[in-house]
Amino acid sequence: MTELEKNNKINLENFLKSFITPDMFTEIKLKNMQEKIQAELSLYQQGLEELEQKEHLKRLDYINMLNKINKILITLQNNVQEYEYVNGSYICHNKSVASFLETINSKYNFNLNIQRDYEDESYQLNMPCPIINYHLVDNEVWGDYSLFVKTDDFERQIKYLIENNYTPIFISELENISQINKPIIITFDDGYKNVYEKVWPIIKKYNIKINVFCIVAWLNNDPYLKADMITKMAQSGLVEFQSHGLNHQNLTTLEEKQLINDLKQSQTILREIAHQSVSAYAYPSGQYNAKVLQIISQYYKYAFTTDGEVNDKSNYNLNRMNIYRNNNLEEFKRKLTI
Ligand SMILES: [Zn+2]
Repeated sequence: MTELEKNNKINLENFLKSFITPDMFTEIKLKNMQEKIQAELSLYQQGLEELEQKEHLKRLDYINMLNKINKILITLQNNVQEYEYVNGSYICHNKSVASFLETINSKYNFNLNIQRDYEDESYQLNMPCPIINYHLVDNEVWGDYSLFVKTDDFERQIKYLIENNYTPIFISELENISQINKPIIITFDDGYKNVYEKVWPIIKKYNIKINVFCIVAWLNNDPYLKADMITKMAQSGLVEFQSHGLNHQNLTTLEEKQLINDLKQSQTILREIAHQSVSAYAYPSGQYNAKVLQIISQYYKYAFTTDGEVNDKSNYNLNRMNIYRNNNLEEFKRKLTI
Protein backbone atom coordinates (compact mmCIF):
# COMPACT_ATOMS: atom_id res chain seq x y z
CA MET A 1 0.00 0.00 0.00
CA THR A 2 1.37 3.42 -0.92
CA GLU A 3 1.07 6.69 0.98
CA LEU A 4 -1.77 7.72 -1.25
CA GLU A 5 -3.86 4.68 -0.67
CA LYS A 6 -3.60 5.11 3.07
CA ASN A 7 -5.68 8.21 2.78
CA ASN A 8 -9.00 7.57 1.09
CA LYS A 9 -10.09 11.14 1.29
CA ILE A 10 -7.11 12.45 -0.59
CA ASN A 11 -8.07 15.37 -2.69
CA LEU A 12 -7.02 14.74 -6.25
CA GLU A 13 -5.92 18.29 -6.73
CA ASN A 14 -3.57 18.13 -3.79
CA PHE A 15 -2.34 14.86 -5.13
CA LEU A 16 -1.52 16.50 -8.46
CA LYS A 17 0.07 19.44 -6.69
CA SER A 18 2.23 17.20 -4.58
CA PHE A 19 3.86 16.04 -7.80
CA ILE A 20 3.75 19.17 -9.88
CA THR A 21 5.50 21.83 -7.90
CA PRO A 22 7.04 25.05 -9.16
CA ASP A 23 10.57 23.97 -8.28
CA MET A 24 10.12 21.01 -10.56
CA PHE A 25 10.62 23.09 -13.68
CA THR A 26 14.35 22.63 -13.68
CA GLU A 27 16.16 19.94 -15.60
CA ILE A 28 17.40 17.95 -12.60
CA LYS A 29 14.09 18.03 -10.79
CA LEU A 30 12.29 16.96 -13.93
CA LYS A 31 14.38 13.80 -14.23
CA ASN A 32 13.82 12.84 -10.60
CA MET A 33 10.16 13.51 -10.89
CA GLN A 34 9.80 11.35 -13.98
CA GLU A 35 11.43 8.44 -12.19
CA LYS A 36 9.17 8.93 -9.20
CA ILE A 37 6.07 8.97 -11.36
CA GLN A 38 7.14 5.86 -13.26
CA ALA A 39 7.75 4.01 -9.98
CA GLU A 40 4.38 5.12 -8.67
CA LEU A 41 2.67 4.06 -11.91
CA SER A 42 4.11 0.57 -11.91
CA LEU A 43 3.16 0.19 -8.25
CA TYR A 44 -0.42 1.11 -9.00
CA GLN A 45 -0.67 -1.15 -12.01
CA GLN A 46 0.34 -4.21 -9.98
CA GLY A 47 -2.59 -6.44 -9.15
CA LEU A 48 -5.01 -3.94 -10.63
CA GLU A 49 -7.12 -6.64 -12.26
CA GLU A 50 -7.71 -8.52 -9.01
CA LEU A 51 -9.25 -5.57 -7.20
CA GLU A 52 -12.99 -5.37 -6.64
CA GLN A 53 -14.77 -2.86 -8.84
CA LYS A 54 -14.87 0.12 -6.49
CA GLU A 55 -11.21 -0.14 -5.60
CA HIS A 56 -10.39 -0.79 -9.21
CA LEU A 57 -12.06 2.44 -10.32
CA LYS A 58 -10.38 4.44 -7.60
CA ARG A 59 -7.03 3.04 -8.62
CA LEU A 60 -7.75 3.89 -12.27
CA ASP A 61 -8.43 7.47 -11.22
CA TYR A 62 -4.96 7.70 -9.72
CA ILE A 63 -3.42 6.08 -12.74
CA ASN A 64 -5.12 8.60 -15.03
CA MET A 65 -3.89 11.38 -12.84
CA LEU A 66 -0.34 10.05 -12.90
CA ASN A 67 -0.50 9.74 -16.67
CA LYS A 68 -1.63 13.32 -16.87
CA ILE A 69 1.31 14.48 -14.78
CA ASN A 70 3.56 12.32 -16.88
CA LYS A 71 2.35 14.06 -20.03
CA ILE A 72 3.13 17.44 -18.50
CA LEU A 73 6.60 16.23 -17.53
CA ILE A 74 7.28 14.91 -21.02
CA THR A 75 6.25 18.22 -22.58
CA LEU A 76 8.54 20.09 -20.19
CA GLN A 77 11.36 17.63 -20.85
CA ASN A 78 10.98 18.04 -24.61
CA ASN A 79 11.12 21.78 -24.24
CA VAL A 80 13.86 22.01 -21.70
CA GLN A 81 16.08 23.87 -24.15
CA GLU A 82 13.33 26.39 -24.75
CA TYR A 83 13.24 27.95 -21.31
CA GLU A 84 15.59 28.83 -18.47
CA TYR A 85 15.22 29.37 -14.77
CA VAL A 86 17.10 32.53 -13.80
CA ASN A 87 16.77 34.33 -10.46
CA GLY A 88 13.30 33.08 -9.76
CA SER A 89 11.98 33.71 -13.27
CA TYR A 90 11.14 31.31 -16.04
CA ILE A 91 12.46 32.86 -19.22
CA CYS A 92 10.75 31.39 -22.26
CA HIS A 93 12.34 31.41 -25.69
CA ASN A 94 9.26 30.57 -27.67
CA LYS A 95 5.56 31.11 -27.49
CA SER A 96 4.36 27.56 -27.10
CA VAL A 97 6.50 26.88 -24.04
CA ALA A 98 5.39 30.21 -22.54
CA SER A 99 1.74 29.33 -23.12
CA PHE A 100 2.28 25.88 -21.69
CA LEU A 101 3.82 27.22 -18.48
CA GLU A 102 1.07 29.86 -18.29
CA THR A 103 -1.52 27.09 -18.43
CA ILE A 104 0.06 25.09 -15.64
CA ASN A 105 0.53 28.27 -13.65
CA SER A 106 -3.07 29.22 -13.94
CA LYS A 107 -4.41 25.71 -13.42
CA TYR A 108 -2.43 24.95 -10.29
CA ASN A 109 -1.99 28.46 -8.86
CA PHE A 110 1.80 28.34 -8.80
CA ASN A 111 2.58 32.04 -9.13
CA LEU A 112 5.46 31.31 -11.45
CA ASN A 113 7.14 34.40 -12.77
CA ILE A 114 7.02 33.79 -16.53
CA GLN A 115 8.91 36.08 -18.87
CA ARG A 116 8.92 36.14 -22.63
CA ASP A 117 12.17 36.38 -24.45
CA TYR A 118 11.13 36.11 -28.09
CA GLU A 119 9.90 38.34 -30.84
CA ASP A 120 6.24 37.85 -31.33
CA GLU A 121 3.94 40.74 -31.80
CA SER A 122 0.95 38.42 -31.97
CA TYR A 123 1.16 37.54 -28.30
CA GLN A 124 -1.89 39.73 -28.05
CA LEU A 125 -3.78 36.97 -29.77
CA ASN A 126 -5.41 37.69 -33.03
CA MET A 127 -8.86 37.28 -31.63
CA PRO A 128 -11.86 39.30 -32.61
CA CYS A 129 -13.02 39.15 -28.99
CA PRO A 130 -12.23 37.31 -25.75
CA ILE A 131 -13.17 33.64 -25.82
CA ILE A 132 -13.41 31.81 -22.52
CA ASN A 133 -13.97 28.13 -21.92
CA TYR A 134 -15.49 26.15 -19.08
CA HIS A 135 -16.20 22.47 -18.52
CA LEU A 136 -18.44 22.18 -15.46
CA VAL A 137 -20.04 24.46 -12.88
CA ASP A 138 -20.53 22.77 -9.54
CA ASN A 139 -19.49 23.03 -5.92
CA GLU A 140 -19.29 19.24 -5.76
CA VAL A 141 -16.37 17.66 -7.55
CA TRP A 142 -16.43 14.19 -9.09
CA GLY A 143 -13.58 14.39 -11.57
CA ASP A 144 -10.68 16.67 -12.43
CA TYR A 145 -10.95 19.24 -9.64
CA SER A 146 -9.67 22.17 -11.65
CA LEU A 147 -12.48 21.82 -14.21
CA PHE A 148 -15.29 22.37 -11.70
CA VAL A 149 -15.90 26.11 -11.32
CA LYS A 150 -17.88 26.83 -8.15
CA THR A 151 -21.47 27.91 -8.78
CA ASP A 152 -21.10 31.24 -6.95
CA ASP A 153 -17.85 32.00 -8.76
CA PHE A 154 -19.50 31.34 -12.12
CA GLU A 155 -22.39 33.62 -11.27
CA ARG A 156 -19.97 36.31 -10.08
CA GLN A 157 -18.08 36.04 -13.38
CA ILE A 158 -21.29 36.36 -15.41
CA LYS A 159 -22.36 39.36 -13.32
CA TYR A 160 -18.99 40.97 -13.92
CA LEU A 161 -19.44 40.58 -17.69
CA ILE A 162 -22.91 42.10 -17.59
CA GLU A 163 -21.96 44.97 -15.31
CA ASN A 164 -19.09 45.77 -17.63
CA ASN A 165 -21.29 45.80 -20.73
CA TYR A 166 -19.98 42.67 -22.40
CA THR A 167 -22.28 40.98 -24.90
CA PRO A 168 -21.99 37.17 -24.85
CA ILE A 169 -22.53 35.98 -28.40
CA PHE A 170 -22.98 32.77 -30.36
CA ILE A 171 -20.10 31.61 -32.53
CA SER A 172 -22.45 31.94 -35.49
CA GLU A 173 -22.56 35.69 -34.77
CA LEU A 174 -18.83 36.11 -35.36
CA GLU A 175 -19.61 37.22 -38.89
CA ASN A 176 -21.43 40.32 -37.64
CA ILE A 177 -19.07 40.99 -34.82
CA SER A 178 -18.29 44.55 -35.83
CA GLN A 179 -21.85 45.54 -35.03
CA ILE A 180 -21.77 44.11 -31.52
CA ASN A 181 -20.74 46.10 -28.44
CA LYS A 182 -17.94 44.40 -26.42
CA PRO A 183 -18.58 40.89 -27.71
CA ILE A 184 -17.38 37.85 -25.79
CA ILE A 185 -17.73 34.15 -26.58
CA ILE A 186 -18.44 31.80 -23.68
CA THR A 187 -17.95 28.11 -24.45
CA PHE A 188 -18.36 24.86 -22.54
CA ASP A 189 -16.41 21.77 -23.54
CA ASP A 190 -17.46 18.11 -23.58
CA GLY A 191 -21.25 18.58 -23.21
CA TYR A 192 -21.82 17.40 -19.66
CA LYS A 193 -25.42 17.26 -18.47
CA ASN A 194 -24.14 19.56 -15.73
CA VAL A 195 -24.64 22.31 -18.34
CA TYR A 196 -28.37 21.59 -18.31
CA GLU A 197 -28.61 21.15 -14.55
CA LYS A 198 -26.36 23.91 -13.22
CA VAL A 199 -25.43 26.30 -16.01
CA TRP A 200 -28.69 26.71 -17.87
CA PRO A 201 -30.61 28.10 -14.85
CA ILE A 202 -27.95 30.79 -14.44
CA ILE A 203 -27.76 31.79 -18.08
CA LYS A 204 -31.58 31.99 -18.20
CA LYS A 205 -31.53 34.20 -15.11
CA TYR A 206 -29.11 36.63 -16.76
CA ASN A 207 -30.37 36.05 -20.29
CA ILE A 208 -26.95 35.42 -21.82
CA LYS A 209 -25.78 33.21 -24.66
CA ILE A 210 -23.37 30.28 -24.41
CA ASN A 211 -21.89 27.77 -26.86
CA VAL A 212 -21.55 24.09 -25.97
CA PHE A 213 -19.07 21.78 -27.69
CA CYS A 214 -20.40 18.22 -27.46
CA ILE A 215 -18.60 14.89 -27.71
CA VAL A 216 -21.30 13.64 -29.99
CA ALA A 217 -21.08 9.83 -29.68
CA TRP A 218 -21.10 10.16 -25.89
CA LEU A 219 -24.39 12.06 -25.70
CA ASN A 220 -27.28 10.30 -23.94
CA ASN A 221 -24.85 8.48 -21.64
CA ASP A 222 -24.01 9.68 -18.15
CA PRO A 223 -22.57 12.18 -17.35
CA TYR A 224 -23.25 13.75 -20.76
CA LEU A 225 -26.26 15.65 -22.10
CA LYS A 226 -29.33 13.83 -23.29
CA ALA A 227 -30.87 14.67 -26.65
CA ASP A 228 -34.02 16.18 -25.11
CA MET A 229 -31.93 18.51 -22.94
CA ILE A 230 -30.10 19.73 -26.02
CA THR A 231 -33.29 20.26 -27.98
CA LYS A 232 -34.83 22.21 -25.11
CA MET A 233 -31.81 24.44 -24.58
CA ALA A 234 -31.41 25.05 -28.31
CA GLN A 235 -35.04 26.13 -28.55
CA SER A 236 -34.53 28.66 -25.76
CA GLY A 237 -32.37 30.75 -28.10
CA LEU A 238 -29.64 30.97 -25.44
CA VAL A 239 -27.53 27.93 -26.28
CA GLU A 240 -25.79 26.99 -29.49
CA PHE A 241 -24.30 23.51 -29.90
CA GLN A 242 -21.09 22.74 -31.75
CA SER A 243 -18.89 19.69 -32.31
CA HIS A 244 -16.10 18.47 -30.05
CA GLY A 245 -15.68 15.33 -32.17
CA LEU A 246 -17.34 11.95 -32.09
CA ASN A 247 -15.23 10.26 -29.40
CA HIS A 248 -12.84 12.94 -28.22
CA GLN A 249 -10.06 11.42 -30.29
CA ASN A 250 -6.88 13.34 -30.92
CA LEU A 251 -7.35 14.29 -34.59
CA THR A 252 -3.63 14.24 -35.30
CA THR A 253 -3.60 10.46 -34.75
CA LEU A 254 -6.38 9.66 -37.23
CA GLU A 255 -6.12 8.39 -40.80
CA GLU A 256 -7.61 10.77 -43.34
CA LYS A 257 -10.73 8.63 -43.74
CA GLN A 258 -11.38 8.47 -40.00
CA LEU A 259 -10.68 12.16 -39.68
CA ILE A 260 -13.27 13.07 -42.31
CA ASN A 261 -15.72 10.65 -40.72
CA ASP A 262 -15.29 12.29 -37.31
CA LEU A 263 -15.76 15.79 -38.70
CA LYS A 264 -18.81 14.90 -40.84
CA GLN A 265 -20.62 12.46 -38.58
CA SER A 266 -20.41 14.58 -35.45
CA GLN A 267 -21.77 17.52 -37.41
CA THR A 268 -24.67 15.62 -38.94
CA ILE A 269 -25.79 13.92 -35.74
CA LEU A 270 -25.61 17.10 -33.69
CA ARG A 271 -27.47 19.11 -36.32
CA GLU A 272 -30.32 16.63 -36.17
CA ILE A 273 -30.56 16.79 -32.38
CA ALA A 274 -30.21 20.55 -31.94
CA HIS A 275 -31.91 21.65 -35.16
CA GLN A 276 -29.14 24.20 -35.55
CA SER A 277 -26.37 24.52 -38.07
CA VAL A 278 -23.09 23.20 -36.69
CA SER A 279 -20.27 25.33 -38.04
CA ALA A 280 -17.62 25.17 -35.32
CA TYR A 281 -15.36 22.44 -33.96
CA ALA A 282 -13.27 22.34 -30.78
CA TYR A 283 -10.19 20.13 -31.18
CA PRO A 284 -10.16 17.35 -28.55
CA SER A 285 -7.30 18.18 -26.16
CA GLY A 286 -6.59 21.18 -28.38
CA GLN A 287 -4.61 18.99 -30.81
CA TYR A 288 -4.31 19.65 -34.55
CA ASN A 289 -1.70 19.65 -37.27
CA ALA A 290 -1.28 20.88 -40.83
CA LYS A 291 -3.32 18.02 -42.29
CA VAL A 292 -6.20 18.62 -39.88
CA LEU A 293 -6.17 22.33 -40.72
CA GLN A 294 -6.34 21.58 -44.40
CA ILE A 295 -9.30 19.18 -44.15
CA ILE A 296 -11.39 20.81 -41.46
CA SER A 297 -11.97 23.95 -43.50
CA GLN A 298 -14.04 21.90 -45.93
CA TYR A 299 -16.60 21.15 -43.24
CA TYR A 300 -16.44 23.93 -40.64
CA LYS A 301 -16.13 27.71 -40.57
CA TYR A 302 -14.28 27.88 -37.27
CA ALA A 303 -12.18 25.63 -35.06
CA PHE A 304 -11.10 26.27 -31.49
CA THR A 305 -8.16 25.27 -29.33
CA THR A 306 -7.55 25.90 -25.65
CA ASP A 307 -4.76 27.78 -23.97
CA GLY A 308 -1.31 26.59 -24.76
CA GLU A 309 -1.73 26.45 -28.50
CA VAL A 310 0.03 28.80 -30.85
CA ASN A 311 -2.25 31.03 -32.87
CA ASP A 312 -1.75 32.08 -36.41
CA LYS A 313 -4.22 34.32 -38.07
CA SER A 314 -6.79 31.83 -39.21
CA ASN A 315 -10.29 30.89 -38.14
CA TYR A 316 -9.11 27.34 -37.51
CA ASN A 317 -7.05 27.83 -34.40
CA LEU A 318 -9.04 30.31 -32.39
CA ASN A 319 -7.63 30.25 -28.91
CA ARG A 320 -9.78 30.05 -25.78
CA MET A 321 -8.77 30.80 -22.22
CA ASN A 322 -9.82 28.03 -19.85
CA ILE A 323 -11.41 29.17 -16.62
CA TYR A 324 -10.41 26.92 -13.71
CA ARG A 325 -11.80 26.42 -10.23
CA ASN A 326 -8.80 28.18 -8.70
CA ASN A 327 -9.19 31.34 -10.73
CA ASN A 328 -10.33 34.28 -8.65
CA LEU A 329 -12.11 37.27 -10.16
CA GLU A 330 -8.80 39.08 -10.78
CA GLU A 331 -7.47 36.10 -12.74
CA PHE A 332 -10.77 35.90 -14.60
CA LYS A 333 -10.49 39.58 -15.60
CA ARG A 334 -6.90 39.04 -16.69
CA LYS A 335 -7.97 36.19 -18.94
CA LEU A 336 -10.44 38.47 -20.71
CA THR A 337 -7.58 40.68 -21.80
CA ILE A 338 -5.12 38.05 -23.05
ZN1 LIG B 1 -12.70 17.94 -24.18
